[in-house]
Amino acid sequence: MKKSKGQPIKQIEFLLKGDKWTLDIISHSKFAKLLEERNPETLAYTEFHKRRIVATDKHILEESTIMHELVHAYVGHLCLDAATMLKPEVLEEIYCELFTYNYKAMISNLKEIKRKLK
Ligand SMILES: [Zn+2]
Repeated sequence: MKKSKGQPIKQIEFLLKGDKWTLDIISHSKFAKLLEERNPETLAYTEFHKRRIVATDKHILEESTIMHELVHAYVGHLCLDAATMLKPEVLEEIYCELFTYNYKAMISNLKEIKRKLK
């Protein structure tokens, strides 16, 4: 991809649950502006409805950071936004089921992203 103003420094495409997602690595100055109310220490964040993960170019993108954002993406598919009254034990079961049925796909996404980052 040609690097120009407003474009990510690097963009990686991957499929997640049948949708085309991107991981966009952008300059830290642009990233910092987009953080808004998020923790300023944030290295990456996930925009589920845009099907994209955004990361700063300030740091090497660690495997744990990629996986953390992939989990956000998969959790987004649970559509829990409206479920504010879930008991912790119910939420725990939901997450256990999420990982049981998606861990292979998550690892596959992680490997693909790491390979494309090289
Ligand atoms: Zn997070």
